[in-house]
Amino acid sequence: MSSEPSFDGLGLRPEILRAVAEAGYTTPTPIQQQAIPVVLAGRDVMGGAQTGTGKTAGFGLPILHRLQPHANASPSPARHPVRALILTPTRELAIQVEESIREYGKYTGLRSTVVYGGVDIRQQLPIVRGGVEILVATPGRLLDHIEQKSVYLGQVEIFVLDEADRMLDMGFIPDIKRIMALLPPAAKRQNLLFSATFSGEIKKLADELLNQPQLIEVARRNTAAETVDQSAYKVPQEDKRALLVHLVRARNYWQVLCFVRTKHGASRLARQLEKDGLITSAIHGDKTQAARLEALTAFKDGKLQVLVATDVAARGLDIDHLPVVMNYELPHVPEDYIHRIGRTGRAGASGVAISLVDPAEEKYLAEIEKLLKKKVLVHQPEDYSVEKATLAPAERRERGGRGARPERGERAPRAERASRSAPRSEPRADPAARTSHADRLREREEAYARNPDQPLVRTSPPRPGRAPEVPMLLRKRPPAPAALVQPAPAGSAPAALQRASDAAEPVTP
Ligand code: AMP
Repeated sequence: MSSEPSFDGLGLRPEILRAVAEAGYTTPTPIQQQAIPVVLAGRDVMGGAQTGTGKTAGFGLPILHRLQPHANASPSPARHPVRALILTPTRELAIQVEESIREYGKYTGLRSTVVYGGVDIRQQLPIVRGGVEILVATPGRLLDHIEQKSVYLGQVEIFVLDEADRMLDMGFIPDIKRIMALLPPAAKRQNLLFSATFSGEIKKLADELLNQPQLIEVARRNTAAETVDQSAYKVPQEDKRALLVHLVRARNYWQVLCFVRTKHGASRLARQLEKDGLITSAIHGDKTQAARLEALTAFKDGKLQVLVATDVAARGLDIDHLPVVMNYELPHVPEDYIHRIGRTGRAGASGVAISLVDPAEEKYLAEIEKLLKKKVLVHQPEDYSVEKATLAPAERRERGGRGARPERGERAPRAERASRSAPRSEPRADPAARTSHADRLREREEAYARNPDQPLVRTSPPRPGRAPEVPMLLRKRPPAPAALVQPAPAGSAPAALQRASDAAEPVTP
């Protein structure tokens, strides 16, 4: 007789099992089945797990189990040193991971918090100075705290590097190495590295970080979740909006995560969809952290029909049962397609991923199919002329068609305008069409570099003759851009931070 795997058989403490049951989890996912016993045994792990596989509980539950004997109610910060450090590449992922840890650990008595850039560091200082056993952080902000001596890493017993491939993409590896230099020696701590893909560079990093790791892989490299129903429509760019509106209305879609390539395009599309009558918001790197959290919360709470997002802003988003991902524009790097559609079909749920493909984007679709090693089903265009015809004239102008005048303040750069007004018979002026995959990767990295979480570029090299690691940390980092130094509105920041912001000094613009 075969019995279903259960959490009870994994050897976790009752306080943790109770929280897991309250989260509604009945069966451990494959990564959890494999990782939990290995982490409980104190071994290092190299985990190959795609987003949405349940990997946070895969490492979070055994970490809580191992640290629980240290839980205490002492008010002394010295009794609450950081014992587990979890690094993530983006703020959104950091927030989600810490929320999960807090949920799973609510009966353990252990303290956790999250620190990330883009908000006033003073909001975070009282919490970290008060002492936490589990710290989730983005690398740049953690270094800021180390500089301010608000965080000490000398007692870290467990170190987790989450989404290591993203860390690499975003140029965080030098910062991670600086952080690793401040941890106790590798042999004295447990190290867990998770990555959706394993490039040569990730393997190199793993060699430096991990001590005889157990390799755990639950999904093949570069595979899309099998539970995602992928399809595409071939449709000219100027007709995409009408088709999107039609699909959302005709199929009664709600919670559609809609990807575009640029921040400017995200804002514009969100405004246009609002005018079309869809409840829409946008998240991208130019929005304040408060605005991003607000949009995300509304989306997660099911209050939005469409959330328009750029790749960077959507990194690591975890939305329970997200039904639909729409690729309004295809990414120029095929791996990003996998990350995008990985937002849906998570933890075994089914999901839909629809791509709207302009003729100029067909080459990207071909690259994606090559990476997926399968064809994406191409639908015949449905009749969506109804929506087109019923658009008010002002809205039709908004569609950016011939003779349309973009709104003041959102006109495209000169070169882009010139290419848009080129005669129809000429090939489309798509600069990416002439670039190589390497160029596009570079272009993508430049986009990541504009993410406020990106480590700041240090203009002055270390002085010769000095040890490079520690002095770097002591060097003053320039302040964050003014637009980012804003407190989150009440109710939108994670509880721990919110408590801190209540007590924080006024924010300097
Ligand atoms: P993660 O890959 O850690 O981001 O998890 C993806 C989603 O799966 C999250 O929404 C979790 O709450 C959910 N999840 C994690 N483990 C389980 C489980 N064993 N059963 C059901 N849902 C789970």
